[in-house]
Amino acid sequence: MLEPESTPTDWHVAAAALRPDVRPWIGGSRIEVDVSRRFRSENPATGTTVAELPCCGEAEIDAAVRTARAAFDSGEWSQTSPRDRNRKVRAFAAQIRSQARELALLDTMEMGMPIANALGDMQEVGSQVEAIAEMADKLIDEVIPNDPSALLLNVREPHGVVGAITPWNFPAYIGISKIMPALAVGNSVVLKPSEIASLSCLRLGELAAAAGIPDGVLNVVPGLGGEAGVALARHMDVDVLTFTGSTATGRRLLEYSGQSNMKRLILECGGKSPQIVFPDIVDLDGLADAIVGGITFNTGQVCVAGSRLLVHRSIADELVARVLERARAVEPGDPLSESTGFGPLASRVQFERVRNYVAGATAQGAELLLDGARQSADGSCFWAPTVFGQVDHTMRIAQEEIFGPVLSVLTFETEDEAVAIANGTIYGLTATVWTADLSRALRLARRISAGAVTIGSDPKRGLVDATTGAFEPHRQSGMGVEGGMGGLRGFTRLKSVTFKS
Ligand code: ADP
Repeated sequence: MLEPESTPTDWHVAAAALRPDVRPWIGGSRIEVDVSRRFRSENPATGTTVAELPCCGEAEIDAAVRTARAAFDSGEWSQTSPRDRNRKVRAFAAQIRSQARELALLDTMEMGMPIANALGDMQEVGSQVEAIAEMADKLIDEVIPNDPSALLLNVREPHGVVGAITPWNFPAYIGISKIMPALAVGNSVVLKPSEIASLSCLRLGELAAAAGIPDGVLNVVPGLGGEAGVALARHMDVDVLTFTGSTATGRRLLEYSGQSNMKRLILECGGKSPQIVFPDIVDLDGLADAIVGGITFNTGQVCVAGSRLLVHRSIADELVARVLERARAVEPGDPLSESTGFGPLASRVQFERVRNYVAGATAQGAELLLDGARQSADGSCFWAPTVFGQVDHTMRIAQEEIFGPVLSVLTFETEDEAVAIANGTIYGLTATVWTADLSRALRLARRISAGAVTIGSDPKRGLVDATTGAFEPHRQSGMGVEGGMGGLRGFTRLKSVTFKS
């Protein structure tokens, strides 16, 4: 455990001293498991091993689900007053804040997020938990107008056991966004984090217990997607499965649900978010900063990354020149240095994936305006910003989620054309529109098929991330509301109760 107040930290020394506990967290303690196989989590900046974790499977998932069910049935959490849950969730936020440095270091070591960004991320995690705590006691039920001799209520109750399967791109942050709304309304949870980065999520289990959240309410089981993930998704006693990850896995989860107990699904399966630029934007320098920021943040490994630049033909050359100038200045660096803002890709798999997309795009005739390939003989996964011009919207790089710092530039003449390209993928997660024309802004807010549309005109003033409210992915980006009160409601079910004299 890192000293919370020790400053300045030599992160290399702290990293060398890390001895993470890799055992699953079930029923309020670390459990010894009898599994013969282990999987390696690897530091993508060096190719070295961070930890070897147990390949938990059906037996461990089943033990965790049974424990979660028993905790739910005990009523110690599910039947407690929302006010009490609010207090304990706030205590959980305080625990997270007190251990933010250790959580940040674990994420940096396992998936390469620069330490400064990871520390910022943990502040966000703390704020998110505090915000959800405040919502826990504000879900108001309904009284339905009816015959005066009857009282008809619609009440909301927790489902029971929620399974959560999470990705590696913001390990602790997405872990918290998936489990917190479920816990806040009284469910018990079994979390299976990504095999690329599980350690911060395993620590979250301990921090929840330290905050007074009863044993068995939050359980965390490490394992491979094809084993522990499948076991959780096919379990007959999991009521809801919440997932963030790839579209391919999301599709499988729908099948597993049908093949098992028809568990409810909340799925966030990625995007191909357009950044649409109209020629009335004056500040092209500020805009280029925003566009490069939108594709380089977290090395482009963000489901809402602005991976398609749709720019009006009349300003395309001017804007692209500015984008290239800025993107060229972004070089990947050591994630353990506090001055690094751009780290490696998270894994070798991700590295190969990006390399294949880039090779495929060149073969399909896109013009490589900026080549981000870097030497990686030592097993590291560094890749710099990459920009393609002459991209036709039917090309794979314009259609598929790459999850890397690869920007595709597409041009348009008319608003209709821009909308058709923006809506022309299987995804519909987020979109950004840059225009100062209010009428156009209103039209596009309606016409763009995405769960969150952000519209702005002055890049220097920044934009509010529309996904900070409640939002619901369109099309194959997923299903179910995430965020805000709507996000909490998704983890409750409605019951109609009638009293008749
Ligand atoms: P990515 O390509 O971003 O790693 P995945 O969808 O493969 O996305 O992984 C996201 C999460 O889904 C991880 O926790 C992974 O272990 C899990 N997962 C992968 N395949 C399956 C599967 N068939 N069933 C259940 N979970 C899975």
